[in-house]
Amino acid sequence: MSNPPVLVLATRNAHKVQELRELLAPLGLELKTLADFPQAVDVAEDAFTFAENAEKKAVEQARALRHWTLGEDSGLVVDALGGAPGPRSARFAGPQATDEQNNRKLLAELEGVPEEKRTAAYVCHVVVADPQGQVQARGEARCRGRITTSPRGTAGFGYDPLFEIVEYHRTFGQLGPLVKQRLSHRARAVERLLPQLRRLLAADS
Ligand code: IMP
Repeated sequence: MSNPPVLVLATRNAHKVQELRELLAPLGLELKTLADFPQAVDVAEDAFTFAENAEKKAVEQARALRHWTLGEDSGLVVDALGGAPGPRSARFAGPQATDEQNNRKLLAELEGVPEEKRTAAYVCHVVVADPQGQVQARGEARCRGRITTSPRGTAGFGYDPLFEIVEYHRTFGQLGPLVKQRLSHRARAVERLLPQLRRLLAADS
């Protein structure tokens, strides 16, 4: 890695950037985003798995930018919907859907489903590629919860007002960033990535 080491966060989602910045802070890297690079490419999220989409984002942007790059793909997997919306979470209600539209569709699809069958998981895959586009590290995690029958709380983004952590009787929308940054799928996936990145940094110094 360069000195100071640069890592590009290959996402245009400002909420994810904020969460990833905090989670990666212990490494002391210089974190950049796609907004810093006019030559960033648009990567089609057309794979059927989170793992493949995360890898595509990391590898294609790394090759375009010639920097170490982190690709992230995440979403909501609802048991009663056979795993939907899954990797299509951002576009559940349509190609340009807002969080509110996606949340409304989720509630409509789960209409009449009893509480005990509204189980779900957030899933996150993170992949780091080197400037040649070779995958050097991966992390994956899920966070289990339950879909409420109406939105609660205003923190977070996406499906957070509907995603209840059962042990807390609260949604991520209610629990806020401090709790989310300890429990979430993204937090745990990055936790698994950190030792691998530390090894890469040590090997490079
Ligand atoms: P991606 O950019 O294709 O990975 O889109 C991920 C989508 O999954 C987001 O737009 C949200 O709808 C949902 N999602 C992923 N992580 C979270 C989260 O931490 N909170 C709420 N929704 C999330």
